[in-house]
Amino acid sequence: PTLLSVENLSKSYGGVHAVRGVSFELRAGEILALIGPNGAGKSTCFDMLNGQNIPDSGKIRLLGENTAGRKPRAIWRLGVGRTFQITATFPTMTVRENVQVALVSYGRQLFNLWTSTAACAREEAGRLLDLVGMGAYAGRPCGELAYGDLKRLELAIALANQPKLLLMDEPTAGMAPRERIELMRLTARIAREQSIGVLFTEHDMDVVFEHADRILVLNRGTLIAEGSPEEVRGNP
Ligand code: ADP
Ligand code: ADP
Repeated sequence: PTLLSVENLSKSYGGVHAVRGVSFELRAGEILALIGPNGAGKSTCFDMLNGQNIPDSGKIRLLGENTAGRKPRAIWRLGVGRTFQITATFPTMTVRENVQVALVSYGRQLFNLWTSTAACAREEAGRLLDLVGMGAYAGRPCGELAYGDLKRLELAIALANQPKLLLMDEPTAGMAPRERIELMRLTARIAREQSIGVLFTEHDMDVVFEHADRILVLNRGTLIAEGSPEEVRGNP
């Protein structure tokens, strides 16, 4: 099923056409990479999808609803998770507490007749940390984590919203090549298991070719190519 359908999306800043006439679809469980040089319009696309930027024109249909111009909170409530380029974790709190805070603020499935909300959040945080391979770090202060582990924690935090769509703008920025491949391998595995659609931007083409099901190539605000890794690689 189609999760996200973007039709003729455009946004200008003064005379600059940051995004023009962009259309694409994303299915449940599909990993879609948005690539292109700096200034191509990738961040502007992301910001319009997550409600931080209002399109000049075009349609965004997310889970059957037109979300163009809606506020971030309304979009998150529909089931969109995202990771942040600048990490938004609390360094003096433990890894588990950071996930608990996310769970409580998203208000997801924390009600159980027999246990308290806090106990439910603790249990669910443990489950999410195990899912991203961070169970062993649960009791450590977040500020002590290595950068790559922090990125896995951020994935757990994004998943705390039980997303159907996961938006990741440069999730591997600042990581070593090997760590990048591992983070996206983990993301892809979880996305396929849970039928989450993923849209990500990435500069490392090894990561893109290994993990994307489909690639969108953006240049000067326009989609200039779209296809499987094989198709895009054969047609640079
Ligand atoms: P990318 O993420 O691919 O690097 P951006 O979406 O950040 O591309 O930028 C696309 C174009 O729009 C660039 O020319 C950029 O300078 C311009 N742009 C982006 N945001 C703004 C803004 N808030 N005001 C003016 N110009 C902007
Ligand atoms: P990235 O592609 O890593 O997001 P950018 O430099 O493209 O980095 O954008 C960082 C932020 O600055 C984005 O939110 C973007 O909208 C904004 N931005 C980019 N270009 C401009 C610009 N020319 N004027 C104002 N804001 C801009």
